Amino acid sequence: MPQSLLTIQQYLALADWRFAPTMEEGQRDGFYWLRSMHLVVVDPLDLVRPAVPFAVLATYFDWHGGSAQVYGHEPGWRALGHFALSETAAVPPRLYTEADCAFLILDAQKYDDDHLIATLGDFEEPYLFEPVSPDAPQAMPFWQALSTLRPFCYFSYGLSQGLTLIMREHDDYMRFMDRLPWDMIEKTYRDDECKKRREEFELFGPELGPEVCSVPDCDRLRLKNIFKCFMHAIA
Ligand SMILES: [Zn+2]
Repeated sequence: MPQSLLTIQQYLALADWRFAPTMEEGQRDGFYWLRSMHLVVVDPLDLVRPAVPFAVLATYFDWHGGSAQVYGHEPGWRALGHFALSETAAVPPRLYTEADCAFLILDAQKYDDDHLIATLGDFEEPYLFEPVSPDAPQAMPFWQALSTLRPFCYFSYGLSQGLTLIMREHDDYMRFMDRLPWDMIEKTYRDDECKKRREEFELFGPELGPEVCSVPDCDRLRLKNIFKCFMHAIA
């Protein structure tokens, strides 16, 4: 048997698994941005909030106009065009993140509805669905709206793209980075991987043989329904 082949026990115990989070960072128009698939389990407002009362503008939920529908009739919210605006408060309202979604956090500055609608116009979320460069032309209207509104932050959860976070103040951005709960994040990914591997094993079952694996030089017994051992079957 090749030395590199794990036993099933080692595989299920994640003996070969290492947590290697990825993150991209940058700056643009005076904002600090990051995006990371691994930070999709983090709520930025849990880690850093404006020092003054703030409002949440939900700009996207599942589809363009979805946030107005989801939040529009919730207490403390009202629909605003395709969007939904929360009341100003010191703590965030409950946010739904079960689908692609995006939020602008507007702090103590004053906004009237007409100003918001005029500025946001056909505001599109450039980062929810594709790994678009922040400098890409299609992101221009987005950054123009951000530069005009100067929100405390913007964040979006893309099911395929992870968390995108854009913050106005460097101190707040650094505070967010310092407070990232890496232990919790790693545990979440470890638990997911563990569950995935156990499900694989439940699907393929034990190496019962009696024949050996069909891969040359492998002397492990084959699975019940596949002519390979478990590790070669999932490779
Ligand atoms: Zn094998």
